[in-house]
Amino acid sequence: MEENEDANQENHVAPSRATRFRNLSSISHASNEDLNAIITITSNEDSGLILSSSVRRRVQISKEKIQTGSLNVLSAKYESLDYDPCENYLFLDEERKKGYKFIVQKNIARWFVFLLIGMVTALIACVIDISIEELSTIKYAALSKSVDKYVTQGKLYVPYMLWIFSNVVPVLIGSILVAYLEPIAAGSGIPQVKCYLNGVKIPRVVRIRTLFVKSVGVICSVVGGLAGGKEGPMIHSGAVVAAGLSQGKSTTFNKDFKIFQYFRDDHEKRDFVSGGAAAGVSAAFGAPVGGVLFSLEEGTSFWNQGLTWRTFFASVISTFTLNIVLSAYHGVPGNLNYPGLLNLGKFESFSYRIFELPIFVLMGAVGGLFGALWNHINYKITVFRMRYVQRKWLKVVEACIVAAVSATVGFLMMFTINDCKPLGLDPTKYPTQLYCDDGKYNVLASIWFQTPEASVRSLFHDPPNTHNALSLASFVVVYFFLAAWTFGLASSNGLFIPTLLTGAAWGRLVSIGMFYIFPDSLVHPGKYALIGAAAQLGGVVRMTISLTVIIMETTGNITFALPLILTLIAAKWTGDFFNEGIYDTLIQLSGVPLLPWEPPPLAHNIYASEVMSHPVVTLQCVENVGHIVELLKLSSYNGFPVVDPPLTDQTEITTYGRIRGLILKWQLIIILKNKIFNETCDDWDNITASKFRDEYPRYPTIDEISISDEEKTYFVDLRPFMNPSPFTILHSASLPRMFTLFRALGLRHLPIVNDTNEVIGMVTRKDLARYRVWKHRGRMGVEELLISKE
Ligand code: ATP
Repeated sequence: MEENEDANQENHVAPSRATRFRNLSSISHASNEDLNAIITITSNEDSGLILSSSVRRRVQISKEKIQTGSLNVLSAKYESLDYDPCENYLFLDEERKKGYKFIVQKNIARWFVFLLIGMVTALIACVIDISIEELSTIKYAALSKSVDKYVTQGKLYVPYMLWIFSNVVPVLIGSILVAYLEPIAAGSGIPQVKCYLNGVKIPRVVRIRTLFVKSVGVICSVVGGLAGGKEGPMIHSGAVVAAGLSQGKSTTFNKDFKIFQYFRDDHEKRDFVSGGAAAGVSAAFGAPVGGVLFSLEEGTSFWNQGLTWRTFFASVISTFTLNIVLSAYHGVPGNLNYPGLLNLGKFESFSYRIFELPIFVLMGAVGGLFGALWNHINYKITVFRMRYVQRKWLKVVEACIVAAVSATVGFLMMFTINDCKPLGLDPTKYPTQLYCDDGKYNVLASIWFQTPEASVRSLFHDPPNTHNALSLASFVVVYFFLAAWTFGLASSNGLFIPTLLTGAAWGRLVSIGMFYIFPDSLVHPGKYALIGAAAQLGGVVRMTISLTVIIMETTGNITFALPLILTLIAAKWTGDFFNEGIYDTLIQLSGVPLLPWEPPPLAHNIYASEVMSHPVVTLQCVENVGHIVELLKLSSYNGFPVVDPPLTDQTEITTYGRIRGLILKWQLIIILKNKIFNETCDDWDNITASKFRDEYPRYPTIDEISISDEEKTYFVDLRPFMNPSPFTILHSASLPRMFTLFRALGLRHLPIVNDTNEVIGMVTRKDLARYRVWKHRGRMGVEELLISKE
């Protein structure tokens, strides 16, 4: 990638809009050959960057030089959700026939679905948790016993081999599932869910198969001892559950239960998914409010008050169901002590002093620094993987190597650092004596011989002096790199727990330092472990409000709100100075056209006329079938403005067609599939909105539709099917104005019109997402990205 820094100094003048419009030609009735040529021209326009302001930077990337792993390219393969409902004639007709009873029924059904989402998400979380608990108990009990048995015989290679074996086998199973069956189930799934909530269709992200691989995969990777957790995958699982339950049918199993048909569109489905993601957070952390805030902060662009209520309801149901089942599993039914998978224990006895606040802010800044470094390392590893670890078997091998390395470093640490503590001071589950004297146990062995989540709990609650500085420091270094290597493997695991663990360990180190500086004051290490964990996690993911509430709810300590928010803000600001949060980095790497919260600053002088694509491929109200078929075959566009026929005046100048509506590709395909042609269709009563809904969400492609030569001469009246009142905007609108429209209304297409309401351009999410804030050495501006074909 070549970046022309000098372009900052350039002050190009954009071609006057009048000149540019004169050059546009209407193509609504171009011949098929012309159409082909026009479509090629339109798509090649990607490389034509127009710069009009000195603060805008030219990112010069020639097509040949687009390299895998670039952060400056958007991929054309991602489509948008149809969030804005299409109020066409069929829809209005259907609405007219429904009465008040239907509205009430639909509302009740909606609440019922949110109830189901909460319950099912929690049940899946329970299955995952109990499986991990049972399998880990067997594994770590056997390992601990084996170490103590063979250490006296000098055959330490036996437990080492056992450890490697018990790590590699589950990881092998999990990574085979991910690599061969469903690659989208890799990682935590949060970036994908975030994109979906933002309005981008990510293929296969909410399928049942993904849920299956994700659930089994996460059990395998946590039992396999990878530096990962089950919390992120829970959020993804909640999203899949919501998408599946709300539709009342399964496309995978080809089964239609004939219920909830009215929820079968992108708008409804996406709202349910935001409830599912919140229920997932709630089940993972026992944090219902945090769940709602997570959905709001991390993804959901289009939000309303009703959705807040229902999402909160699903979250509360989720944590409640999980609590009932897990309390029963732990032998205390009815006690309700297990609100979430991540149980960090209660912090009620902790408090902080005013003088500690600056220390917490400082720790936040350190967390931001560490987080930025972690993100950078993980980014480099991810790019390497994208370029060189493409084959499936290689991905599986890499996951197995990481599993073996995890066991090896743990083994080396516990054998080289002889940190012994007397038994009985802390609730370690498998005290391993190793080289310690009788009545003592090896502290590092107890950290490694349990799930990472249990280790976080130990670091929060173990009494002062449980760990010495050397074991903590070496653990921080090892786990920091191990977690960075692990995240992004072909296995389902999240980063919350390993990041919390690293942060908790260095937080405890800080408390040891504090104890040396102020030996007289009581410095509780758990408090610093908590702040360190929050700082590290904040530095990596850069969430503030939801993370504060999640940690508060998980630890049950409201008094820590201020220290936590100060820490997280410091971590975010420090980290943001260097790079983006890990989820945003991964999203940029995959080229997803995500619309951020705000339009890029300094973009008010970028006009619709510069952003839009032109000439626009349009259709007429009554259109020729052959023309539609060719258009769909030749173009990849998903939306076409429907216009009046353009007129030619005496001076032979052709006008642009005046806008009458907007029709989507899938609607055209359903029309063709059902052969709703003017010449042949005589059963108009049978053509209802449900005919279009039944095919949702997987529509046939144009190649699957057979249209005879005779049919190609027929005509279709598009008016009953098109959206007759699409949102449009004048050519003089600014980029931030268009951006606000897209964000607020969840638009997919925005036709640009001139003063006489004629369509002169088209703006989609990708056109807006390609304008991005650019910061470099204290300077700031707007950069334009390229759209790649893949
Ligand atoms: P999406 O992919 O968001 O579902 P889409 O497939 O219709 O929508 P994009 O892939 O976002 O459109 O568009 C790629 C480029 O093509 C954009 O620059 C957009 O402005 C342009 N474009 C989209 N529709 C048309 C059209 N009907 N005529 C001309 N250009 C179009």
